[in-house]
Parts: sequence; C-alpha cells; structure tokens
Amino acid sequence: AARNYTAGMFRPPTSEQPLKLNFNENNQGISPLAHEALLSALAEVHRYPDRPHAELTVALAEHHGVGPQQVTLGSGSSQIIHIIVGAVARRAQDAGQPTQVVMPVPTFDAGASAAAARRLPVQAIPLRGNLEADLIALQAACEDFDGQSVVYLCNPNNPTGTVVDSAELRAWVEAAPQTLFLIDEAYVEYVTDSRFQPVDAWVRDGLPNVAVARTFSKLHGLAGLRVGYSLSSQENAALFATFLPEMPVNLLGLLAARASLGDTDFQRRSLDQTLLARRRVLDTLDRLGLRYADPQANFVFHELPAHLGGNRSYRQRMRERHVIVGRDFAAYEGWNRLSLGTPEEMAHVTAEMMQVLGQKE
Ligand code: PLP
Repeated sequence: AARNYTAGMFRPPTSEQPLKLNFNENNQGISPLAHEALLSALAEVHRYPDRPHAELTVALAEHHGVGPQQVTLGSGSSQIIHIIVGAVARRAQDAGQPTQVVMPVPTFDAGASAAAARRLPVQAIPLRGNLEADLIALQAACEDFDGQSVVYLCNPNNPTGTVVDSAELRAWVEAAPQTLFLIDEAYVEYVTDSRFQPVDAWVRDGLPNVAVARTFSKLHGLAGLRVGYSLSSQENAALFATFLPEMPVNLLGLLAARASLGDTDFQRRSLDQTLLARRRVLDTLDRLGLRYADPQANFVFHELPAHLGGNRSYRQRMRERHVIVGRDFAAYEGWNRLSLGTPEEMAHVTAEMMQVLGQKE
C-alpha cells in the first residue's frame, strides 16, 4: 500500500529499511484524499488525461489568483526549470542575443544542468557569510553582461534553507525588466521568516519578468508522481508551452495533486509536523553548540565538529546507525544537509546525533 499519513507510527530503522533523510522528501507520506484519488484513478489509466490536466490548471489558477493561461504544468518542477531556461535562451537567440544563467552556489542542481544542456554560460556567485544568496553580487553579474540573463534563485535555497529579503529582491526585479527571474519556491510553505513574500503575488501584480516554479514533491509528499508547475505572464507561459508536450503530467499525478491541493487539513498537519521536527533538530544542534544556516525549509544545513573528519565520515557513521543523511556540497566540506522526517523519526535521529556529534576528540 502507498504510504498514507503516518505521524505517530515509528519503527526504528534497520539495514534493510534505513531512514532516508537525504533528498528533502516528505516522510509523512501523502494526503488521505490523494491516496483515495489514486486508487480510483486506476480504473481510468487507459484514458489520456486531457480533462484532469485542464482541471488541475484551473484549480491552480484559482488557488493563486491568476488566469489559467498563466499556469504551466510539468513533470516535476525540475522539468519546468529546464523548459524555462531553454525557452528564454531560444527567444534571446532569435533576437540575436546571447544568454547567461546567474545563480548562487551552492544551490539546487536543476538550474546548472538546464544551462549545461544548452551550453549556456553560468555565473555562480558564492553565498554570503550568513549563507544567504548575495543579491548585490548576483545583480552585478547581470549588469556586466551584454545579453539575456536568467537568474535562477531558489527561495528558500537548497541546500542552505535560507531566504533572501523579498523587498530587496523585488526592487531588483522591477529595476531589471530585461532579466528573467526564475524563482524556485519548492519549499515556500515552510518559510516562517517575515522578510519573505511568495512571488505568486508578483505574477498577480503583472510583473512580466518573473516566473515562479512550484512543486507537489515537498509539502504534498508527491515526489514520486512528478508534478510541478510555474506561474508567469501569459506571454511567457505561451512561450514555455511551445517547449512542452501537450500533457506532460500523467493521470495519477494530476488527480493526486488536485486532491491534495484541496486537502488543507493534510497540508496543515504536514507543515506542523515538519516544523516540530525542525524545532527538535535545532534544539539538538543548540545543545551540541553547532552552527546552522537559518532553516526555512524541510531540511537543516548544519556544521559538523572539526574532529569528525568531514562530511563523508559523518555520513558513514550515521549509515552504520541506518540513517542516511546529506551529501557533499563543494566549499562546505564540514557541513551536512539533514532532511526533516517526522517528529518521531527526528527524536530517534537526534538521539543518534547526540552520540555521534557529541563525542569528544
Ligand atoms: N527545486 C528545488 C529547490 C529542490 O530542492 C527540488 C528537489 O529537491 C526540486 C526543485 C525538485 O522538485 P520536483 O520534484 O518538482 O522536480
């Protein structure tokens, strides 16, 4: 059976069934309504999903207060990111202009892989000391370029979980109408920082140079079904559509996403549980005296004690305890990204962390 909402049910991990805290997934499972929708959808899988595609598009448009022609569905937001980078570069090429992609590093891979697929140059701008994206340096990188810049900005960022100040970002967006801002809000629902504003509001306001990417993979827990979307101006959405197949999302994904979008009880529980898990991890890191980036998503990017011998050795030691954490991020050798499981899972993991990270040299 698919994993339904499972808070309160915790089994200690084993070597056969380790606890996966490395991909920023939602270990709570999915909405019971999405679960039901999936089961009934099985009777319909021999049909093309044109109607469910249109219905999810309209539901998202209503949800965000934009027109249905401003919504682009994709097979995960990763596909959306690839499509947008390629479409904007092609439009610039047709106008005789080169394109560059500008982004902070480290960040989610999709921006760089989309650029690489089209052989576009990437300007990778290191994070500031507080692990936030450096808006001033990103802006300078765009201003120095004679052509089309696409700014790929995850807000909150992955792997750090930090956000940028939305007022500062908006001032830049308004001052740079030639730059296309691709704002990846995969983790938008988890933000608690009051400096943050979701940019669907900017699309509603009619800013023509913003496209926001959203996903059902995180809060909604539907990562395996690959459902993402973007909101942008009607003109941009029409351009993106020409680079996509007519129905990029399968029937199951469409129906599950539609049901989950309507299940606000599940969404609230999903969020509450993740925020509780986040609190548990931060309390543990505070007790251990380890620094962390301000976490605004469903993971925590934290420092490791120097004597532990780096990220690889930490991962190995947690693996021996059947917990899979993080991966390497260039320039952050002594840091680990820990995805947040359920509060019960994190109670278990933080006890293990106390043992592994609390050991003296
Ligand atoms: N964007 C960011 C910032 C992510 O961290 C991830 C996945 O980890 C994605 C997008 C991928 O989302 P999707 O599953 O919709 O392709």
